[in-house]
Amino acid sequence: MLYSKLPNILNDINTLLFPIVCFGCNARLNRGEKHLCTVCRNQIPLTDFTFNEENPVDRIFYGRINIKKASSFLYFTEIGIVKNLIHNLKYKNQEQIGVFIGEWYGQILAENNFLKDIDYIIPVPLHSKKLKKRGYNQVTKFGKSLAKYLNAIFLDTILIKTENTKTQTKKGRLRRWHEQKNLYHLTNPLVLANKKILLLDDVITTGATMEICAKTLQEAPGVTIYITSMAVVL
Ligand SMILES: [Zn+2]
Repeated sequence: MLYSKLPNILNDINTLLFPIVCFGCNARLNRGEKHLCTVCRNQIPLTDFTFNEENPVDRIFYGRINIKKASSFLYFTEIGIVKNLIHNLKYKNQEQIGVFIGEWYGQILAENNFLKDIDYIIPVPLHSKKLKKRGYNQVTKFGKSLAKYLNAIFLDTILIKTENTKTQTKKGRLRRWHEQKNLYHLTNPLVLANKKILLLDDVITTGATMEICAKTLQEAPGVTIYITSMAVVL
């Protein structure tokens, strides 16, 4: 009897010594909870946007780029669960949060049969210097999880960032466009010819980064582009 409970007891001792906290609210996690506490899990703001109907993420890109469809999994707000999750993922070395979000979103996409024809899943790339500094692209695990559910190929070697600059969001759109049009590069456009691509980022705000990346992907002939992200600012 005692032996069967031993793993749980050890687990509890471990949790007591090294408390594992919720990435959404910092509360200590109870046994059985992972990444998020039950309260945060119930309160996390899912957009429920689909790839069938028009949604506010589509409207961000209207008149800017010719994409097939856009969506996003969560609402991003200046305070709260989603902001804390993304912050931990990007700046606190908690790369596994990308798996957590990707597994959750991937199941929903697969169950609803959205995006069943996607060939390649491509993340917005980091510049090699930034990648070295952070140690990982925060979108990679998310993308690999989605690729598993969508039976697509995760490809992070074809779209690369050639200059280590920040996306300027405060400048005018036209000026920004002229300054940024050479920020990204396709290593081998022919690989993407006539393929259906899902372009991924962590958070969509102005849409500027997605716009420039999508335009770079369109240097490949006949591509169809879908866009999604972990979260969106609306
Ligand atoms: Zn919580």
